[in-house]
Amino acid sequence: MTKYAFVIDQRKCIGCHACTVACKAEHDVPIGVNRTWVKYIERGEFPNSRRYFLVNRCNHCDDAPCVKICPTKALYKRADGIVDFDSNRCIGCKSCMQACPYDALYIDPNSHTAAKCNYCAHRTETGMEPACVVVCPEHAIIAGDMHNPQTEIAQIIAREPVRVRKPEQGTGPNVYYLGADEATINPEAAVQELPHMTMWGTMLRPHHEQESTFNPTASLRTEEPSRVLQEAVPLSELRRNGHNGRTPATLNALKPYQPASGNPTQARIVYDTPKNSAPWGWMVSAYLGTKSIGAGAMMIAALALALYGLQGTLSGTMNTLLGLTTPIIGGLFIAATLVLLVADLKRPERALFLIIKANPTSWLVWGGYILGIFGAIEALWFFAALFGFATFLHLLLIPAALFGMAAAGYTAFLFGQAEGRDFWQSPLLLPILLVQAALAGSSALGMLAWIEGAGTTLTTFLTVALLSAVGVHVLLILMEVFGSHSNSHVAASAHTITHGPLSNIFYGLFIALGVLVPVVLLIVALAVPVAQPVLLGLAGIAALVGLFAYEHCFVVAGQAVPLS
Ligand code: SF4
Repeated sequence: MTKYAFVIDQRKCIGCHACTVACKAEHDVPIGVNRTWVKYIERGEFPNSRRYFLVNRCNHCDDAPCVKICPTKALYKRADGIVDFDSNRCIGCKSCMQACPYDALYIDPNSHTAAKCNYCAHRTETGMEPACVVVCPEHAIIAGDMHNPQTEIAQIIAREPVRVRKPEQGTGPNVYYLGADEATINPEAAVQELPHMTMWGTMLRPHHEQESTFNPTASLRTEEPSRVLQEAVPLSELRRNGHNGRTPATLNALKPYQPASGNPTQARIVYDTPKNSAPWGWMVSAYLGTKSIGAGAMMIAALALALYGLQGTLSGTMNTLLGLTTPIIGGLFIAATLVLLVADLKRPERALFLIIKANPTSWLVWGGYILGIFGAIEALWFFAALFGFATFLHLLLIPAALFGMAAAGYTAFLFGQAEGRDFWQSPLLLPILLVQAALAGSSALGMLAWIEGAGTTLTTFLTVALLSAVGVHVLLILMEVFGSHSNSHVAASAHTITHGPLSNIFYGLFIALGVLVPVVLLIVALAVPVAQPVLLGLAGIAALVGLFAYEHCFVVAGQAVPLS
């Protein structure tokens, strides 16, 4: 069976960008985004220096994670091995950009849908070669059927020591490189000494969530380094020190360039293209928080009702809080979660495609189903309590708890499908999400118990539940960020939280406000019962602020490591 692949011979490549330009012309690729691009790396000091190139593009993976995560089958694998896409189905969820370990996808600023190299399928089908192959003046790009032993590409792959990018990801990439230097292949091996600058000019960076914004002024104002693995030198500081803003290759000869690392053998990126390094922003962080509250409130209420029941000696306030207020609050936060999910789409008007064009391998789709069923259970719970159907309400306890756990936990599988982000592949993620739901649920109910004046039984139960959840949660997070890391990508992400740009949020808002303050308040609350409601309410507020702060750290840190 035909299997199309590329061989890219970096020994022949002269970095002329003809392939990039031909691809842009063939597919009308807008300014600022690329289906194929050439990265330049330099190593050494003149005259003992050398420049290396790497032609980047989609790898048309055998086991393509972008195809699995795509919720609407907009990305699909063809029988001839090409991973193609249908922009008419794309909802712009950007999950494919998180799943691809090779940075191959972008959001088209005109159509607001995902796009990438499709092997010039329209040309291939008529017997022509992809545009980049035809234009390359060095015959450095070889395309063809790697399963046909008569083809040049099959013979090169059989004969030469080819290698692929990130074979450890297990995606089965089908772009084979000859003579590619390690520093070009491994995005963590080279440093970017002047953020946003390249040898020929400014490298514009899109805003995290707005790919179409290519405003040079705004980009230069950004203080956050695009690569977190090394110290960034803000442009303002360079200018203050008399630096003219030019890059290593063009620095004034009177002021010889000194590598920031002090190591002349350190590989340096001297040319690259702008990329949206963090497709998911605050809306995804907020979605994690609101979903935890919506799911956790019902989980904790179900546990309280299972332990104490609706009737008996309990006050009417507790019945009202658990029976009526909880499903309203839970339902509102699940609705807010869905609103955030839809608002984060680049094509929100296509949100229904999640149902009518659903891809059953995507956890984004299963998440939508789970949230929908969970919302229905919350509605049934509310009406059962409203009309006094105590038996029916008790029948709902187990489904509510199970679907609450599913609503809280499915995101672990969704983030697990985001295979480009190793930090999100943690086996601790599922227990962390479940504990976060318990923390958020007991916080929300604790605040409601304070406002509605619930009795001692419920207040004490919520105090113990919140104290336990905060304790277990912080232990899991500390294991996550300070424990042993499976690879350098995960270690770099954790480092941004513990010692990098996110450390103020982590220590200030999460550890101090979100953990220490609630723990002290809750311990005092257990010792001084008369002050318990107000202390529980305040602890709940602090714990929720801490939870949202950590969700932000988690989402940002996962995307902090460059993929290409
Ligand atoms: Fe291409 Fe990336 Fe999808 Fe692999 S995961 S097929 S490289 S877009």
